[in-house]
Amino acid sequence: TAKAAGRGCWSLYSEEMGERSRRRLAIEEGLRHAIERGQIQVHWQPKVDLAQWEIVGAEALIRWSHPELGRVGPDEFIPIAEQCGLIDGLGHWVLEEACRAAVNELQGLTISVNVSAMQIQFGHFLEDLKTLLQRYQLAPQRLELEVTESVILDDPDQALAMLHAIRETGVRLALDDFGTGYSSLSYLRCFPFDTLKIDRSFITELLTRQDAQAIVRMITELAITLSKRTVCEGVETAEQLNAICATGCNEVQGYLISAPVPLSAFPRSLPERPSVVTVMTSELQN
Ligand code: C2E
Ligand code: MG
Ligand code: MG
Ligand code: MG
Repeated sequence: TAKAAGRGCWSLYSEEMGERSRRRLAIEEGLRHAIERGQIQVHWQPKVDLAQWEIVGAEALIRWSHPELGRVGPDEFIPIAEQCGLIDGLGHWVLEEACRAAVNELQGLTISVNVSAMQIQFGHFLEDLKTLLQRYQLAPQRLELEVTESVILDDPDQALAMLHAIRETGVRLALDDFGTGYSSLSYLRCFPFDTLKIDRSFITELLTRQDAQAIVRMITELAITLSKRTVCEGVETAEQLNAICATGCNEVQGYLISAPVPLSAFPRSLPERPSVVTVMTSELQN
């Protein structure tokens, strides 16, 4: 009967809800001790300069292995860490790991660290940052902080002041996942971003959708006008790389070059640049 079906639906629904909140609770509980239990690691993904075809930077990406849940991705646990007051500790740990690696294994590279909007809103963020630079004797230009548009939307005036204060230390700023949010283009003029990271979704569709191509081209042209650098994230194929080269974008990152890897596996050099150009020329000759 309808009544029975209704009850059935309800119990399924509540079971799913129950499971979801159990997982959430396990994540929240686990996160509280994850660092001290050695479950958190940083993986590094190379950034490649297209003009030089050279690894010029590395992005720190946090990794967590929970004893029961297995690998939990940052897209799932970072928002939870934000909601239950754990982002501050996690964020500081990653930043310190990044500074340590910058002056040891990753000398000569620009080091990028993702910071969440909430993290930089804490009053002590700026002081902590300066303390770390001092402690590790790290030249501030070697460090770049990646933030998303959410940092602006929460409280534009406070964000503007904070980002300017960070930029004044010499640390660089990148706007991550650019093109996906809602922030106005006029923000680009007043916010001190050095780099725009074009969101992976545009790269994924670069060869299949003209609008994606147009958007990537528009962003790179705008960046040139505003004297900012551009990075394309999520480059997986040589064809995508080739299309990106044509736009004037400065750097690429993606599985084509390397997935994020532990420091010990970080690539020292690059394979030869894939030469899709040759294929296209020969096609033209036919
Ligand atoms: P993001 O900063 O935009 O990082 C890019 C994401 O794309 C990473 O996922 C990376 O592993 C993945 N990726 C890189 N190249 C490719 C590719 O060619 N193909 C595909 N399909 N994916 C690629 P990940 O590591 O799961 O991180 C997800 C998000 O979590 C990051 O997005 C960032 O917003 C956040 N995150 C990661 N580490 C930290 C951290 O230490 N602190 C904070 N606050 N957020 C972090
Ligand atoms: Mg990032
Ligand atoms: Mg991104
Ligand atoms: Mg992202």
